[in-house]
Amino acid sequence: MGWSMKIHEYQAKDLLAAEGAKIPAGIIANSPEEAVKAFDHLGGNPVVLKAQVHAGGRGKGRFKDSGKDFGGVKFITKREDIIPIAEVMFKFPLVTLQTGPEGQKVSKILVQSAADISREIYLGMVLDRSEGMPIMMACADGGVDIEEVAHKNPEKLLKMAVSPETGLLPYQARKLAFALGFTPEQVPQAEAIMMALSKVFLAQDASLAEINPLVVTPTGEVLALDAKITFDDNALFRHPHIEHLRDLSEENPSEVRAAKSGLSFVQMSGNIGCLVNGAGLAMSTMDIIKYHGGEPANFLDVGGGANKDQVTEAFRILLSDPNVKAVLVNIFGGIMKCDTIANAILAAYKEVGFHVPLVVRLEGTNVAEGKKILQESGLKIIAAEGLTDAAKKVVAAAK
Ligand code: ADP
Ligand code: MG
Repeated sequence: MGWSMKIHEYQAKDLLAAEGAKIPAGIIANSPEEAVKAFDHLGGNPVVLKAQVHAGGRGKGRFKDSGKDFGGVKFITKREDIIPIAEVMFKFPLVTLQTGPEGQKVSKILVQSAADISREIYLGMVLDRSEGMPIMMACADGGVDIEEVAHKNPEKLLKMAVSPETGLLPYQARKLAFALGFTPEQVPQAEAIMMALSKVFLAQDASLAEINPLVVTPTGEVLALDAKITFDDNALFRHPHIEHLRDLSEENPSEVRAAKSGLSFVQMSGNIGCLVNGAGLAMSTMDIIKYHGGEPANFLDVGGGANKDQVTEAFRILLSDPNVKAVLVNIFGGIMKCDTIANAILAAYKEVGFHVPLVVRLEGTNVAEGKKILQESGLKIIAAEGLTDAAKKVVAAAK
């Protein structure tokens, strides 16, 4: 299973700037006092306080329970406004359309010189699976929700396939820049930013890189005001300096914990915990639970060859979610033998102590031995035969 590693805006901007993208001057602040210092350091001119969280839509977000009507991107002209605003940003979680209702805690603020904006443009790069190529995407209406544009006005979204061998070529960048309506004086600046985006995307094995908005100032300067980059985790081993940018405090704690034990965990919103082996089996388990009227709370994939310690940790993670009202273990023993998993379940059961019903469906290598071990254990385990029976039993148990 692949996931993407996210980084903060200021980190993404550093990577782009190193490849020649022009960005406004900015300083990171870890406290309201540091934000005031940064303001002074930037010359006492208007700045924007930008809450750093791994989620977009910060400008339109709100600080939960703060009673304030500003979001994670706040324009500041007066020095004395900084402390009270930064205090709110550090104190209350920021809720945006992408964070979920609990919001995300802010521990860093980017204090950035404010830019005058004449135009906002969207620029992004992504792996296009239907093209089988990375593509650069651009839209003359920036600062917008690009998924909505792609859905409602797909003709407004310009696309340029980029060869992974050569990266974006200068003529392609100019072609895009003219199509976006940049003036001849602005085109070389836009080109430099596009080239930087392509270089970072390809060199660092990014899965998504966005500059939204790319802006033009009244004096014709072209600047990257926002930046988001996510990286393909399967390639992280090639980029230790990128892995170093990871901020675990922004990630789901159960997912982090699972990854540490070589497990992959995905959080969902229902009440049935699922322990499976293999991503395909995870998907079909989700489907069949839903088909029988249940909702998965999560799934934990123990992979092909999990050992007793991993299975025990898997149960701890599953059961630490207070929403879990029943657990389904759905294992197809191939490399992983059913008797091994049965023993691991028993050990984990004894160690973790279950407070919710456990339904187990085993199939495959050494299934008879596995079932025997569970039967003879005397533990309260609901045995299931086949996927349908397992799904029905766990949905009933969760009710
Ligand atoms: P998000 O996408 O998370 O809402 P952005 O960085 O895109 O955050 O900021 C939202 C909006 O705030 C931008 O579209 C832009 O209009 C404005 N903005 C952001 N940074 C600056 C800046 N340095 N100067 C002026 N306006 C800014
Ligand atoms: Mg943005």
